[in-house]
Amino acid sequence: MAGLQFIAILFVVTTSYVSSERAILEHARGLMERAGANAIEHTKRFLEPAGETTEQARRVLNSGLVGVKDRETMERYFFQLLQTEPQIAGINYGDEEGNFVYVMKSKGPGPFRTKFITIKNGIREVDYIWRTANYEVVARDKDPLDKYDARTRPWYIEATALDARIWTDPYIFFSSRQPGITVAAPVVLPGKGLQGVVGVDVEISDISRFLSDLRVSESGSAMILSETGSLLAHSDPSQIQVENADGSLSFTNINEVTDPISRAAFLNIEGAGSEDFGTQSNFEYEGQEYLGLFAPLAGIDLPWTVAVIAPEDDFIGGIKENRSRNTSIAAIISIFTALAGLALAELILRPVRAFAVRTALVSQGEVSAKAPLPRTYRELSKANKTLIDEIAQRRESEAKVQELSRDLAHFSRVNVMGQMASGLAHELSQPLTAISQNVDAALSTAKQDTPINEDLIAILSELDEQAHQGGDVVRALRGFVRKDEGETAEFDFNELLEQAKRLMRHEAEDHQVKLVYEKAVDPIVVGNRVQIAQVLINLIRNALEAISAAKAADREVTVQTMSKDGKLEVRVTDTGPGVSEDVKLFKQFQTSKEDGMGLGLSISRKIVETNGGRLWHDKTRTPGATFCFTIPRQID
Ligand code: ADP
Repeated sequence: MAGLQFIAILFVVTTSYVSSERAILEHARGLMERAGANAIEHTKRFLEPAGETTEQARRVLNSGLVGVKDRETMERYFFQLLQTEPQIAGINYGDEEGNFVYVMKSKGPGPFRTKFITIKNGIREVDYIWRTANYEVVARDKDPLDKYDARTRPWYIEATALDARIWTDPYIFFSSRQPGITVAAPVVLPGKGLQGVVGVDVEISDISRFLSDLRVSESGSAMILSETGSLLAHSDPSQIQVENADGSLSFTNINEVTDPISRAAFLNIEGAGSEDFGTQSNFEYEGQEYLGLFAPLAGIDLPWTVAVIAPEDDFIGGIKENRSRNTSIAAIISIFTALAGLALAELILRPVRAFAVRTALVSQGEVSAKAPLPRTYRELSKANKTLIDEIAQRRESEAKVQELSRDLAHFSRVNVMGQMASGLAHELSQPLTAISQNVDAALSTAKQDTPINEDLIAILSELDEQAHQGGDVVRALRGFVRKDEGETAEFDFNELLEQAKRLMRHEAEDHQVKLVYEKAVDPIVVGNRVQIAQVLINLIRNALEAISAAKAADREVTVQTMSKDGKLEVRVTDTGPGVSEDVKLFKQFQTSKEDGMGLGLSISRKIVETNGGRLWHDKTRTPGATFCFTIPRQID
């Protein structure tokens, strides 16, 4: 559970991180696109006036209103144009003959400088005039060594060749040492053809200033590159120029730029300028992810590329920090809840374990089922009780199958003895019969003898009687242990009573006890005859022994039989002292006798119960003791 929870928390943290990261990066791209579009727009607006100024100058020159022959008018016209557009560094016109007029912003001695190259009769004259903003002359100079020829300049050649307005490649202006470009357009007079080329110089360092103001992000940058990879403008203006060995200046190529991130940005984005606006390119530098946007300078015919780059962390650094913080918080919460969960589980499991251990111990008999219950849940304690009860019942019943097995062992002994008695009776009956017959023969001989020997007759008569009695005993014994022993069957209880009477006569005489039998009216019962005989003998013998041990004055044992509730009830009553209070009746090995086993009553009860009856001690009948048992009349 704790693990699942940990995963769930991590999942939530991660997905929320990923989705917010995605949303923010999306937003960041929007910002960068806007920055790129701004840079383009600004650059366009910055360059457009130069184009327009060129166009205007060309129209004026084309109209012939201002001509190179009137160089002062041209100078004044150029001066005015220069003052209206601050980003224009200079305006010039060169004609087919080599004449040249150039008005430009200057650092001194005046803020404006004019250069004239005049060809007259093949002779070339170069004049310089410096002026104030009010067009007043500050200084003049001549330069006979000047070799400048506009007609040889690339812008002149290109504009005349194409017969159209052209933008030159950017270059560093010689005098101002600032980066710039020239817009050039051919001047053509109707009917006279090409006259010359008008050109407008534009300083583009201002674009860098704008880019450095354009805050893309905390440490993002924007730049403009030419077709050849020259860095024309950059948020950091110091990046764009390099000084050559000869002291001249040129543009830094993107491959040489000192800012490694700008270099890395262009490694992946070859030919970006030719693509539609908004080429997105993400790149990596030193393990840091960067967003890049590369777009052509649309709407103006310059093959330049505007690039905006910014580290991803400028936008999502905050949420990255949050992620690690949230992950730690999630981990701490997970660990805490896992520990709490384990503690809770332990709390739940402890009573369950205690319950299991107790159940095991109870079932092994090492702990009593009555021992106090461990503190558990209500349900467990109910389950515990049910289990313990079942175990207790099982153990009780186990104690009982065991009891029965002991009883059966006893039974089998009794049966063996019965069989031995049966065999003995059989063996004895023959000699007794022989004795009896011989005594009869001897007696009749003695009676016929003269003189009659009275003593001999008396002895023989006694012998005859004894032999008959012996025969009776043996017959009774044999009847007791008849062959159908062990079987449940109908039998006549009066018959059994008669046999018991004979069997116990001598024992009763030994104890000087009178045995009284009351026969039943309806004596037919169902049961194991031998077993029931055993019970009857046991009860009579206990009664005789009780009277004898107590040396009672009144010495009588009564065996009564009567019908009750469809069964035959047998009561053995004696005039003895009654059952001692110390003795727990029907419990095995409970005996008050020195040679007693304490098994008789418990076995007798079991026998009676096995035969479908009941055996009990009737305490209401005092003095003396009365033991009763019932035998069914039919098989249940
Ligand atoms: P045992 O005869 O071997 O002692 P029993 O189970 O037959 O075993 O009897 C258990 C005890 O019950 C006797 O020792 C005796 O104390 C008591 N008892 C049984 N029958 C009588 C009786 N008729 N009168 C008095 N006490 C009796």
